[in-house]
Amino acid sequence: MIPRHHPEMAQLLDYATGSAAEPVALLIASHLALCPACRRDVAALDSIGGCMLEDSDPVPLAEGSFERLMDRLRGEAPPEEPDGGTQDEPDSPFDPLPLPLRRYLPKGLRGLSWSSLAGGRIRIAELLPPVGSLRTQLVHVRAGSSILPHTHRGMEMSLILSGGYTDEYGQFLRGDVETADDTVTHRPVADTGADCLTLTLVAGDLRFVGPVGTLLSPFIKS
Ligand SMILES: [Zn+2]
Repeated sequence: MIPRHHPEMAQLLDYATGSAAEPVALLIASHLALCPACRRDVAALDSIGGCMLEDSDPVPLAEGSFERLMDRLRGEAPPEEPDGGTQDEPDSPFDPLPLPLRRYLPKGLRGLSWSSLAGGRIRIAELLPPVGSLRTQLVHVRAGSSILPHTHRGMEMSLILSGGYTDEYGQFLRGDVETADDTVTHRPVADTGADCLTLTLVAGDLRFVGPVGTLLSPFIKS
């Protein structure tokens, strides 16, 4: 399955230059394990970075020249790697985890401390200690269950690891990345047929919209 929703180019650039915070770098690396297109882009960015280091007098790029350079460098892409991942447990209901994420889970998904919400329809585990206000979570949503409509005080970035969900912006499946901020209101609903597992970064609180506002739990039954 080829991902259709990718990180923004600025995020790939941060990753390529090593300036992304660890949670973001982990999410991008996990996406790269599943996305040949972004692997080519990052390889191209690495090439550009090498060129810039050799040029001590950088000049601003003309409009569109960056895209043309990317197009040219895409022709020099490295060979594709196999779809990264190993099975978490033999009886895991999920697709194999990408290798960069697997390294953070020496005891597998079951080694995490999961909080259960909405009668077990949603489970959340903190993967890393917070970095500032940025939390790194694995979110498991049962097939067909939904999260209340919400917007964000900060960034929310999700990588779909298994299953999928659909919101106002489309359907997101394994390997897809959705980035949201305070301009985005969405109500993700896990697709029916398979549970959904995401790696989700959240900076700041979610803000729930609608007549009940913040009085309700964010998580409701399907
Ligand atoms: Zn991609």
